[in-house]
Amino acid sequence: MAADIRVFRCLSDNIGALVHDPATGACAAIDAPDEGPILAALEAAGWRLSDILVTHRHADHVQAVEPLKRRFGCRVVAPAKAKGEVPGADIYVGEGDKVQVGGLSAEVWETPGHCADHIAYWFADERAVFAGDTLFTLGCGRVMESPYEEMWASLTRLAALPDDVRVYSGHDYVISNARFALAADPDNAALKARAAEAERAKAEGRFLVPSTIGEEKATNPFLRAGEPALARAVKREGAAPVAVFQALREWKNRF
Ligand SMILES: [Zn+2]
Repeated sequence: MAADIRVFRCLSDNIGALVHDPATGACAAIDAPDEGPILAALEAAGWRLSDILVTHRHADHVQAVEPLKRRFGCRVVAPAKAKGEVPGADIYVGEGDKVQVGGLSAEVWETPGHCADHIAYWFADERAVFAGDTLFTLGCGRVMESPYEEMWASLTRLAALPDDVRVYSGHDYVISNARFALAADPDNAALKARAAEAERAKAEGRFLVPSTIGEEKATNPFLRAGEPALARAVKREGAAPVAVFQALREWKNRF
């Protein structure tokens, strides 16, 4: 039976996600930004929390771990490289480890860049990847701790997943991401349509998470750093894609 996945807003711009296995009743929260919205989502669905899968140690992703663990006695899975920095962590995982949520199985990918400990959870049977603050709809996380080469490698690895894979990101920055993307890649027709869809979604109180790998490859300027149009936009014609990526990301920091 396929997983049931729900997403909802937390804090000012975080996205909470619940992954439920209908066969066993197991249910994982991906990160724990805020207890209230997670409890509300669990209650609305009639699910009980069995696991929390942490993508990285930043406070806005882990601050509700301990209260949720106290309430549900759930297991807390955290990145090996964040050892000692995720309150309540029960097990630490790294590259290639398998994590079960009831009968559902995820593979752990280390995706450093935004921070050194960052991991993603790839549920191959569900065609879903939880990318945390590595890959966003129309954007990517700020590169704060690792070399740009590592973030670029993390992003290109995610981009190599099949086009139909759904990408669940840790924040809803789609409107500001869309505005930057249009500035960087103004002649991209697919991007223009998607930016308009993002504005429509916002007006209707929706947000564009999940997106798909195929949509991101077509419209996300950071995944398109290997395209001549993006190199031109940052005046790095002929440069390696990672150099274009770095220039785009630094431009976005100032945008
Ligand atoms: Zn973060």
